[in-house]
Amino acid sequence: MRVFLTVDIDVYYSGDFDLEARGYGKGVDHIIAVANDHGVPVTFFVDIMGATRWGVKPVRELCRYIQSEGHEVQMHLHPVVAQIDNFTDQQDTFWREDLATQTRLIRIGMEMFDACGVENVVAFRAGALAANVDSLRAMQANNLYMSSNRDLDQKSSIASQLNDHFAVRNDAAAWEGIVDLPVNVLRSPIPWADGPYRHLEICALGSLEMKDALRRMAGAGYAAATILTHPREFFYRTRSGTAYIQKNCRRLESLIRLLGNDSRLSACPISAWKRDDALPMVSPPELRLHPLHSLMRLIGQIEYRVRRKFFLNPQPFDPVKVEA
Ligand SMILES: [Zn+2]
Repeated sequence: MRVFLTVDIDVYYSGDFDLEARGYGKGVDHIIAVANDHGVPVTFFVDIMGATRWGVKPVRELCRYIQSEGHEVQMHLHPVVAQIDNFTDQQDTFWREDLATQTRLIRIGMEMFDACGVENVVAFRAGALAANVDSLRAMQANNLYMSSNRDLDQKSSIASQLNDHFAVRNDAAAWEGIVDLPVNVLRSPIPWADGPYRHLEICALGSLEMKDALRRMAGAGYAAATILTHPREFFYRTRSGTAYIQKNCRRLESLIRLLGNDSRLSACPISAWKRDDALPMVSPPELRLHPLHSLMRLIGQIEYRVRRKFFLNPQPFDPVKVEA
């Protein structure tokens, strides 16, 4: 089974990339350091609208760093961050824009990546996965053929409009030549706490859940597993800088160690998927997380929230958040 470890990079508070994306060494840099230790490639979906608001320079520097470490950059896009002529967005929901506007935003994104020296952009992920069929058409118009915009988990403010649009659910599938790699879900054994599904995100699944999920997906014949994370899942802001979120750092380490060692799991960058690669014909079986693993995660989460509230004193990223 191919496994795609994907990181969405959003910079929408102050334009301070060293803080918001890199966490003074504890964000993007930390992910890359752990990945490189185990030879695991990572795909970074960089919000290219940042280049229109904060300038090309910081985005170029970030992309150069990612690529110089052997990882790849693909397009992420939060319309609320865009600062371009004759366009404003208050809702940050890409699918609310009409086809012409979606096409224009992606085209500007491609021009910005060009200015940042990023080549081989083939994939697109809308902010909060808020994509619809027009988004796929806008991708076609810009020669992008890889998508990662489905996610059946409706709890994490995921806004995808594409879940019922592909013949195969919860695995790689194509629509008119565009291949979508969904952020995969498993059924939660504790729906009263989680909702029906839990998706493959570092902050959503404990280490045991993630490892067990990937092994069982491989065993059940899934073609691809796509995992989502963000730099800010690994650090918080303190009065003097940043500090690690140890719980999530342990999860990342354990996941990447598994990807580096388990021969059934082939970690790839998204561009490794070629246009004519074979796709599954039917939806794979829906899997359920192990109840004991999920309960352990829930207890750990409650413990972390209490500690965060009473002892960690995280500082906000404000004050200049873009109007949302
Ligand atoms: Zn995002």
